[in-house]
Amino acid sequence: MRGMKGKVYIVGAGPGDFELLTLKALRVLKEADVILYDELVGDEIKSFLKTLNAELIDVGKRICKHKKRQEEINELMVKLAREGKVVVRLKGGDPFVFGRGGEEAEYLAECCITFEVIPGITSAIAVPAYAGIPITHRKFDPAVVFITGREARERLNWRALANLNATIVILMGVTNLERNVKNLIENGKDPKTPVAIIERGCTPNQRVIVSKLENIVEVSRRENVKAPAIVVIGDVVRVREKLVRFLQNMRDLDHVQSC
Ligand code: SAH
Repeated sequence: MRGMKGKVYIVGAGPGDFELLTLKALRVLKEADVILYDELVGDEIKSFLKTLNAELIDVGKRICKHKKRQEEINELMVKLAREGKVVVRLKGGDPFVFGRGGEEAEYLAECCITFEVIPGITSAIAVPAYAGIPITHRKFDPAVVFITGREARERLNWRALANLNATIVILMGVTNLERNVKNLIENGKDPKTPVAIIERGCTPNQRVIVSKLENIVEVSRRENVKAPAIVVIGDVVRVREKLVRFLQNMRDLDHVQSC
């Protein structure tokens, strides 16, 4: 605790690889009195946190209790800042990409707490990259759309999405994979479109599963795919075939390829 007014840093930890943490994130972690971290923060980063002088609070959220947990986290951040502490709210990937960082920032603003946002490298881009998939490529779709797989069906215009000529990146896409794939195919997306699912990307446990839209549900079931995973739907997935032999990001890993 310091004699001055407290402050909150909403910080992105990146997708898992310790070296994808930004220099700015590293600096504020070292300055923190308290660190509230999420489940998605990489294991190596979590181990590093233990070497710091800060108090550590694991606020890993279970989806079923999400709402209540979020309120608790908001209140805890405010309470600690009001005690004069430097608080780091450490989140997986980027805090403003499907990370509820926006809601946390709003709450801090409503409570007149000074805060800073430190963006992180989002899994939505880095996880495909580590797996050899550039999410844009001049030869393929001219747009990328990031969606959450957990959104209620009606909130998204599936017809527009299926016909957009865009690479589709789905976060939180494992649970509703079957429903979302069905929506895309029914609305006109080519069933032969290549799909990759990257489980625990940018970590030593990374696993990549490749198939076509029409088969991906069956393949992911067979391979017992689990969250966290990124789903990439689009022709850019094909680039991986060319890159993977020489790609060294995760070279020790067993890549599963199924078509
Ligand atoms: N703010 C985060 C996303 C939070 S939503 C970011 O910018 O990355 C949680 C989802 O992120 C997971 O369900 C999964 O789809 C994705 N995700 C996060 N880290 C991941 C990882 N290392 N490998 C695969 N998917 C990951």
